Amino acid sequence: MTKTKSQPNFFGSVQNYFDKAAAHTGLHQGLLTQIKVCNAVYQVQFPVKIGNQYKVIEAYRVQHSHHRLPTKGGIRYSNHVNQEEVMALATLMSYKCAIVDVPFGGAKGGVKINPWEYNEAQLQKITRRYTTELVRRNFIGPSIDVPAPDYGTGSREMAWIYDTYRTFKGEDIDAAGCVTGKPVTLNGIQGRQEATGRGVYYGIREAVETEADMKALGLTTGMAGKTMVIQGLGNVGSYTAKISQDEGDAIIVGVSEVEGAIYKESGIDIYELLKFREETGSILGFPGAKNFEKQDRNKVMEFECDILVPAALENQITRENASRIKAKIIAEAANGPTTFEGEQILLKNGKLLIPDLYLNAGGVTVSYFEWLKNLSHMRFGRMEKRFNQNTFRSMIDLVEKNTGKSVTERDRSVIAKGADEIDLVRSGLEETMINAYNQISEIRRRKRKVEDLRTAAFVNAITKIGNDYLTMGIFP
Ligand code: GLU
Repeated sequence: MTKTKSQPNFFGSVQNYFDKAAAHTGLHQGLLTQIKVCNAVYQVQFPVKIGNQYKVIEAYRVQHSHHRLPTKGGIRYSNHVNQEEVMALATLMSYKCAIVDVPFGGAKGGVKINPWEYNEAQLQKITRRYTTELVRRNFIGPSIDVPAPDYGTGSREMAWIYDTYRTFKGEDIDAAGCVTGKPVTLNGIQGRQEATGRGVYYGIREAVETEADMKALGLTTGMAGKTMVIQGLGNVGSYTAKISQDEGDAIIVGVSEVEGAIYKESGIDIYELLKFREETGSILGFPGAKNFEKQDRNKVMEFECDILVPAALENQITRENASRIKAKIIAEAANGPTTFEGEQILLKNGKLLIPDLYLNAGGVTVSYFEWLKNLSHMRFGRMEKRFNQNTFRSMIDLVEKNTGKSVTERDRSVIAKGADEIDLVRSGLEETMINAYNQISEIRRRKRKVEDLRTAAFVNAITKIGNDYLTMGIFP
């Protein structure tokens, strides 16, 4: 593993956060150690013929916790993948699942490649070979370990994984549940693609409704009119921006991407920006915005705004730049964007941090819905939609008859709609994010010494996982 000394250690940060919270759980050391360690680490190197050359590719799958099965977590394609990074990400997955009551252990996969250097056929070859390695070691399966998209992967890769798995395990009637985030047309689920961003929106919305927290920051409650800076316009960043603008009336003032950053005090329409980037290949030059070249792109995180949303990679807010962050709320859409030292500075400066392990759990929540759909072999809403429509229509007819007043066509269609899969997925996700926020807030209120949301979230996760082990009777 090559790692320069100045690079902050992501896994170390996660472990520090764990230790800080563990002290408030009352669980004994043996149990805490079991919760903290990674249960299984698989490293593999495999050859793939690319053009006329053979490339040997390094890849990982880490299962952090087997307290619940299957384990669950995405697969990352990036040049920066290393064992510690995958271990940190797998660890976060266990806590994430516990916080949103998704009954899985945590896992993560990583393939050390720059996906933008390969064409589609080459990526397919790499993905199929990686999946084959996982099948061989029993590191994938609907009841064993269920991958999903992460940085550098999407529904296309998930379809290849599913098909490869099926080639080996065609007799498994639940094979579609071996991976989530699949295309909707191939056993996927409506709303999975937007899920992480939508969950981020719901989480921020809950946080800004807490009057005492907003008062302490000198802000009013509510999302409308709050200014936002988004770091990273990938899947999570772009959906967070779109939904915050559409449903929350938030104002996006800054955006950064690999090519640079832009800032516009009066607000950036996110749809226009995405269209502009598609046409020109860059966010730079967007009408009316100030430009920051590639090497200065992270400066946008230090600009005046109410909410900063790091939605790219880990280790973005460190002890080096934390003191320059002006945003009052840091909403961690990415995994691990703030190092332990960075967070200490932010907390000292009175910032509100909405932590990754809660805030970006929308993705795995909807993955859980997809997995359930795969195991039930039926789309949500299929059995009850028409029945509900008929019941609601009869009720409206009855009200009209008894009151002599007629219900407008618009109201009728809203009331008697009957839920589609997308409606159920969104409502299930909203309920999950609200419920989890309330649990974390409650811990912060109840435990005098737990002051920040991350520690409260960790206490919640550790306690739930600890209870599983205690109930199983493995620990006294
Ligand atoms: N990669 C996503 C995450 O970090 C999703 C994981 C999943 O859906 O299993 O949460």
